[in-house]
Amino acid sequence: MSYDNNNIFAKILRDEAPCITVYEDDKTLAFMDIMPQMPGHTLVIPKEAAMTVHELSDEASLACMKTVQKVGKAVEQAMGVTGFTLFQLNGAEVGQTVPHFHFHILPGSILNATGI
Ligand code: 5GP
Repeated sequence: MSYDNNNIFAKILRDEAPCITVYEDDKTLAFMDIMPQMPGHTLVIPKEAAMTVHELSDEASLACMKTVQKVGKAVEQAMGVTGFTLFQLNGAEVGQTVPHFHFHILPGSILNATGI
């Protein structure tokens, strides 16, 4: 299966769909999830075209983790919590609904999230 340029995150990256941006640099974008599992649910995506972790370049992997560190800390501070849940799905078979690599940041325990 090849990368679908019309997936919603590709459109967000091209400014063809809106999002609430919380952080952006030359390799990554972080924005609020449109259907948050809990308040503060944030997504981190690479700007390169990758569906799953298997396609992610070393450069994008490093950039995503650096953004997760920054945004994770900012989400903790904004939501008044210490600690956050980081998760990421690879493939429709395990529930990935948007075929562009993304990390979920939840400012709380994944065990308290709805719909997961
Ligand atoms: P997945 O199930 O693929 O791991 O997660 C996809 C996430 O993307 C879901 O949490 C869903 O709410 C979020 N999402 C889907 N469409 C949009 C959108 O158009 N804008 C934003 N901000 N988030 C979206």
